[in-house]
Amino acid sequence: MEILFLGTAGARYVVAKQFRASGGLLFFVNGEITLIDPGPGTLVYLSKNRINPERIKNIIVTHKHLDHSADLNIICDALTEGGFKRRGKLFITEEALKEGILLPYLRDNLEEIHLLKEHENYCSGALQFKTTCKLVHNAENYGVQFLLPSGKRLGLISDTAYFEELKREFEGCDYLIMNLVRFEAKEGVLHLSVEDAKRLLSYLKPEITIITHFGMTMLRSKPSLVAKTMSEELGLKVISAFDNMRVSLM
Ligand SMILES: [Zn+2]
Repeated sequence: MEILFLGTAGARYVVAKQFRASGGLLFFVNGEITLIDPGPGTLVYLSKNRINPERIKNIIVTHKHLDHSADLNIICDALTEGGFKRRGKLFITEEALKEGILLPYLRDNLEEIHLLKEHENYCSGALQFKTTCKLVHNAENYGVQFLLPSGKRLGLISDTAYFEELKREFEGCDYLIMNLVRFEAKEGVLHLSVEDAKRLLSYLKPEITIITHFGMTMLRSKPSLVAKTMSEELGLKVISAFDNMRVSLM
């Protein structure tokens, strides 16, 4: 499989100023495209990468926040050719749907809409995944474990504060994508910090970890430097994502 990071911005300020792009992730599994967390600008970043939105088969929205969902409507419109083609499977939280993240007139144009729930298995063509427990965030939000065609597991830790159960929820993941917003933890901010990440990784020991979704404190600390230091301290391979980065995983 291949992953394309359409954007690596996290937190309000980095997104608002577009210090990093905010288009989420694209997974290519056996030629099928899954778009994850289409933040602001996703349609533009797709075009810049010469990817036709009509090719998107699945969309996953981990939670309602705008940096994960702002372009959902235009992507749904584009992939269904303005409603002329019924296409696309959407996986979304009940809260996001109830709050109107997806405009009602677009709903029937999609092939299927599935609600994300705790500890549930989902399958769409080559895409297979299961959700974790509810994450600790100020929105209904789930982590995801993808089962790759090779049998390996790829975990996606979406926005969350650290909590002990996280370790068990992502146990057995060979690869990990982690939304690492904060360099240092801040009281009341429900995001992972570098210390949280290290605590998790020293337990999980994934083959490869990719950190992304950076807030200002991470950008100031230079994500590539943070990843290098984490790699050395933990004896693990930690990579920092950049916009338009492509990674192949077996
Ligand atoms: Zn969030």
